[in-house]
Amino acid sequence: MAHMSGKEQQYIQEAFDTNWVVPLGPNVNAFEEDLAAFANRRDGAEPLQKQVVALSAGTAAIHLGLIMLGVEKGDEVICQSFTFAASANPVVYQGATPVFVDSEPGTYNMDPQLLEEAIKDRIAKTGKKPKAIIPVYLYGMPARIDEIFEVAKRYEIPVLEDAAEGFGSVYKGQVCGTFGDYGVMSFNGNKMITTSGGGALICPDSDTKKRVMFYATQAREPFPYYQHEKIGYNYRMSNICAGIGRGQMTVADEHIRHHQWVHEQYEKAFAEIDVITVHSAPEEYMKPNYWLSTIRFEDGKHTVDGELLSLIQKLSDANIETRPLWKPMHLQPVYKDAPAYTNGVSERLFSCGLCLPSGPYVREEEINYIVRIIVENL
Ligand SMILES: *Cc1c(COP(=O)(O)O)cnc(C)c1O
Repeated sequence: MAHMSGKEQQYIQEAFDTNWVVPLGPNVNAFEEDLAAFANRRDGAEPLQKQVVALSAGTAAIHLGLIMLGVEKGDEVICQSFTFAASANPVVYQGATPVFVDSEPGTYNMDPQLLEEAIKDRIAKTGKKPKAIIPVYLYGMPARIDEIFEVAKRYEIPVLEDAAEGFGSVYKGQVCGTFGDYGVMSFNGNKMITTSGGGALICPDSDTKKRVMFYATQAREPFPYYQHEKIGYNYRMSNICAGIGRGQMTVADEHIRHHQWVHEQYEKAFAEIDVITVHSAPEEYMKPNYWLSTIRFEDGKHTVDGELLSLIQKLSDANIETRPLWKPMHLQPVYKDAPAYTNGVSERLFSCGLCLPSGPYVREEEINYIVRIIVENL
């Protein structure tokens, strides 16, 4: 559930007072500056110089990222199989084919070894390299970024980071979404911060930012009349939504700290329960935002085909909203014909994993209650 700082209404009021109720304006510019400052900061190093474009959705940001990387009809793009469909769907919008790569068990994110196998096999089978790689930071957990980028660099394939769930997650002192050629943020209602609906694309510099803005505003060429030489999109964020975003940015760090605190409480509470493992960062240098805390059942009993769904129902009866982990894309009917390189990890996690309430309204009392109800129903 969204949690407002109180400043949102003030920025929205300003937009009305100054008659900026359009998909551009002072809130959009200021929100982009806030986001850039947030993403560019680094522990013990000079800030980066990346630029940010505010858009209508994270999905739009992925789509424009692919356009910027030249993804076209007939191309292949490597996607993480264990993710939300929005990571992969824009590949299809471009007439390209997603190639799914499974996860590794530590981060739940793209397995770098399997990534390389997939690249080699695609080159062998199609005679050309995949056009881009889209790693995901699921539930806010950084991926094995160094290892993935080492492979990407070796094969000279650009990386578009889907950091929609990893807003403010940190890897070796640097914010997720700033490692790749482009990075994606999402401000949908359920994400770390919200603009009611929205997203952003992190770009390498101001030239690419201008290009992204061009495609996001119907690709209007600089003529006194409407001249079009490319297909454009209506993907810009409105000045009203950006007002909400500015308000949210005043509490973004606080939100993240709260999610991290919730995760710590679950870790402590489930420490004694053998059959439950809380998913935590596998390396010291990964600082997840813990957007959602997730657990795995190790008892072989609480699985999607076993008792997991009835447990979810019991929790729902007790007013606790939980859900299974993402169903891998290679198991989705819509992607049944897409090439997939699997190792069983995402299928296993989908089968025995559960997302727990992790938002701003989850306090100590709620955590105790949630843990008690889960343990009572094992
Ligand atoms: C939410 C999400 C998106 C899409 O963002 P929207 O703003 O909802 O379009 C993309 N990828 C992942 C992994 C997400 O969780």
